[in-house]
Amino acid sequence: MEQSHSERRTALITGITGQDGYYLSQLLLSKGYRVVGLVPPERRASVAKLGDIADRVEIYPVHLTDASGLLAAVEQLRPDEIYNLAAPSFVPSSWDDPLGTLDLVTGTATRLLAAVRQVGLKTRFYQASSSEMFGAVDRSPQDENTPFRPMNPYAAAKVHAHWTMVHHRQRYSLFACSGILYNHESPLRPPNFVTRKVTLTVAAIKLGLRDRLPIGNLEAKRDWGYAGDHVEAMWRMLQTETPEDYVIGTGHLHSVRDLVATAFQCADLDWERYVSVDTALFRPDEHFHLVADPRKAHQNLGWQPTLTFEELLGKMVRKDIERLQSGSVELPR
Ligand code: GDP
Repeated sequence: MEQSHSERRTALITGITGQDGYYLSQLLLSKGYRVVGLVPPERRASVAKLGDIADRVEIYPVHLTDASGLLAAVEQLRPDEIYNLAAPSFVPSSWDDPLGTLDLVTGTATRLLAAVRQVGLKTRFYQASSSEMFGAVDRSPQDENTPFRPMNPYAAAKVHAHWTMVHHRQRYSLFACSGILYNHESPLRPPNFVTRKVTLTVAAIKLGLRDRLPIGNLEAKRDWGYAGDHVEAMWRMLQTETPEDYVIGTGHLHSVRDLVATAFQCADLDWERYVSVDTALFRPDEHFHLVADPRKAHQNLGWQPTLTFEELLGKMVRKDIERLQSGSVELPR
């Protein structure tokens, strides 16, 4: 139900033009929120990526590295909720720019939390944490008490941001929570991620535009959920009475082999005829035991995934076939 204007809540989102930004904005708009994206001025045009909802969200131009700019944004917009999603989401790239990653991930969280504290509002703050923070796990599945052993600059920066958020909750009594999210996918996932790479290539093979799929380690495993479901958990976390952190994932571990077999099956194709393993795509030092124990989210938030692994991949394959047929997507080389 839409809220009346006087009680309309305002949500600020960093990273609004990414996959999660789209699904979260869509959810908040459906609940009657005023949705404002904090976007670097030079990237203002990227709001077009929000497609059908681009003209329903507002953009506030500000650099996420600009503490006084963020303070002014919070003062002016007086948000009820802030969702800090901005991050360079493709993990391997963080090795190329560890300091830039730290500044964007940890710096933005720190600057936004400081702004909320300085303005003195009752703003509720969501920090996008990641299962990558668990890293070299010694137990599976992981829950909210599992220690963090980050294995890359992205994960280390996320751990720092997470603890900064916890400190603000403990020391300054801010309503701040972190969602430790496992991989979450959708037709909006960029094609450098394995799910979308697979569904786009399956669609291309189905339409006769490609004849093979080069892939990395078929034994790599992840807990893959649907982005539309995971953003629902973010919102629910900010509606509770006490701020707490939550592990959000499906609780099911699938291999890249399962992913490939299922995606090809969605298009009635036999994967073994098209897939070739390319060891150049293997990553060093990977752990394949990252799987959520989401019971706390089930119990406290009443949260449950709505799509199965098969349904998620079916949705992605169908959308990629449609896009290739309409010419609205280009095939990566
Ligand atoms: P990540 O979990 O955020 O790194 O998401 P990705 O989708 O990039 O990778 C998920 C897993 O798939 C990792 O274990 C990769 O090593 C594995 N993988 C296997 N083949 C590929 C591939 O061709 N591309 C990518 N991106 N990942 C692959």
